[in-house]
Parts: sequence; C-alpha cells; structure tokens
Amino acid sequence: GYVEEVDVNAVLADCLLLTRHNLEKGRIDVDLREAATVPVEINRSELQQVLINLIVNAIQAMPEGGTLTLASENWLEHDQPMGAVLRVRDTGQGIAPENLSNIFDPFFTTKKGSGTGLGLSISYTIVERYGGRIEVSSRPGEGAEFVVRLRREPLYD
Ligand code: ADP
Ligand code: MG
Repeated sequence: GYVEEVDVNAVLADCLLLTRHNLEKGRIDVDLREAATVPVEINRSELQQVLINLIVNAIQAMPEGGTLTLASENWLEHDQPMGAVLRVRDTGQGIAPENLSNIFDPFFTTKKGSGTGLGLSISYTIVERYGGRIEVSSRPGEGAEFVVRLRREPLYD
C-alpha cells in the first residue's frame, strides 16, 4: 500500500467504529486517551490492521468484560517528537511469562481450535517494515499492554 501522512488518532477512531459492536457485546468500557500531535508516514490500512489485531486480542482476553485503554502520545527523544506511541491495554487474564517470547511467532496461539496465531506476527512484520517496534508487557491476572512506536519518517531497510 502507499505511504501517507496518517493522523493516528483518526485511525484509533476508525478501529473503535469497526469493533464497537464487539466491545458492547463483551461489556468492555473504552478509555480513549488521544495525545499524539504528530502524524506518521505509513499506509493507513496497514496501521489499522495492526491496531485491530491488538484490539481483537484484547477483547478476547476479557470474556467477562473489562476496560480497553487506547492511548496515543508523541514519541519524544531529547524533547524532539520522533513519531507516535500507541498503546493498547486490557484488563484481561494477561500473558504467561513463558509465552512472552513466543507470542509474535507465526502460528503461535493459546486459543485452542480458534486461533490462527497470525495476528501478532502480521502486526510485528508491518511495524518493523516501517522501522517501528512493538513491545508487550503483562502481569498475569492483571492484563496486557502492547506498545507500538512509529516514526514520523520511517526507516526502510
Ligand atoms: P491468536 O489471537 O490467533 O491466538 P495472535 O498472534 O493474535 O494469535 O496472538 C498470539 C497469542 O498471544 C494468543 O493466542 C495469546 O496467547 C497471546 N495474546 C495476544 N494478545 C493477548 C492479550 N491481549 N492478552 C492475553 N494474551 C494475549
Ligand atoms: Mg489474535
């Protein structure tokens, strides 16, 4: 896809529209914190796909309901805005420590019979291609947070 200047807050809004029905059905509250002010150069539908994969995982991690936090902020280095940081956080079951190093691998899934194990590996590949990164942190029982960093001007290898 072609690369454009993308307003990350607008993409978060698109993702919420696309998942609204599932969020309501799953009794999931949304905490939206939009603070990023710099656009990032990326293909908009690829960014949407990255975030939808993370949001769907968050929804699936909260079968009893919970809170989905979606946040954007500027990625600052030495006070300079390098790009945007997007956070997708849930209050679900979290990720077992022994799985943390495998979740980005293609076909790794803990969803017996229902997972493809492809969402995170696709998201990782897309973000890497733009010179960005995805990181995860999780405390079992308390939820998981995925942090996506995207450069204003991507590095291509
Ligand atoms: P799938 O969703 O098809 O299993 P993914 O690549 O999207 O594949 O995710 C891989 C695995 O990472 C999941 O099966 C799950 O074990 C773990 N995972 C991803 N996101 C979360 C989350 N928000 N909470 C708990 N576990 C997660
Ligand atoms: Mg998934």
